[in-house]
Amino acid sequence: MKTEFLYKYPKTMLNKGTGFLSGYSHSLNPYTGCSFGCSYCYVRQMPVSLFRKAEWGTWVDVKKEAAGVFQKEYQKAKAKGPVTIFMSSSTDPYQPIENREQITRSLLKIMSCDPPDFLLVQTRSPLVRRDIDLLLQLGKHVRVSMTIETDLEEIRKHFSPYAPPIAARLKTLQLLAEAGVPTQATIAPILPSSDRFAEILRPLVTRVCVDDYFMGDGSGGKRTRNLGVDALYKQLGLEEWYHPTAYRKVYEQLKQHFSEDQIWISQQGFEP
Ligand code: SF4
Repeated sequence: MKTEFLYKYPKTMLNKGTGFLSGYSHSLNPYTGCSFGCSYCYVRQMPVSLFRKAEWGTWVDVKKEAAGVFQKEYQKAKAKGPVTIFMSSSTDPYQPIENREQITRSLLKIMSCDPPDFLLVQTRSPLVRRDIDLLLQLGKHVRVSMTIETDLEEIRKHFSPYAPPIAARLKTLQLLAEAGVPTQATIAPILPSSDRFAEILRPLVTRVCVDDYFMGDGSGGKRTRNLGVDALYKQLGLEEWYHPTAYRKVYEQLKQHFSEDQIWISQQGFEP
């Protein structure tokens, strides 16, 4: 899918953590829009997407000179009290164009000099490995949460054809862990997977988060229903996976390879 890039000069970078992110003082989005354009993305139903004429996934606003704006807000926020940041809530901070623009890297540089109380980096992109040097400087104040919704590449292609391949995400988790960066595998939203999924994750992480549309889209599954994602399951004859109890299948499998305190369900798994 072709992405149109617009260059914007943001007035603010830090937003208050609300709703699903109420455990965080702030959320931080280095970009607006997302070239991965996942079919099930709940941001499609949010004003940021609805007010644009172009389809979600086809445009990305690059926040130029974000670091200067962020630095001022960050210092002010730190002076007021604990700062916990979720990066990112309505984009992936490792957009393909981040390779060139380095907006996310510029924000990490600021945080690595004076770490926040906690930073969650939520991504599905292998590009995060580029920033291992800065992530290490953040020490225990950071966790990289890598989205891996399934172990099956054909399922990934069906639901999010423009997102990075599963094998590259698994490899990235391995590299981050070997380097000593705190990580988790985030199976969210749960997509149809094989019986080997938990076994594949076992050597790579000590923390797994499981979430689905019904618990995690902020509307009990309504936003996802409005997107018509159920049709994608029907096309594959896998409707049983589009159900509030489907996550139990993966949860039970995970329990055979992880201890219960290593498995986190929905919102808890994203908390600082
Ligand atoms: S990567 Fe995240 S923000 Fe981007 S389209 Fe997919 S779900 Fe939405």
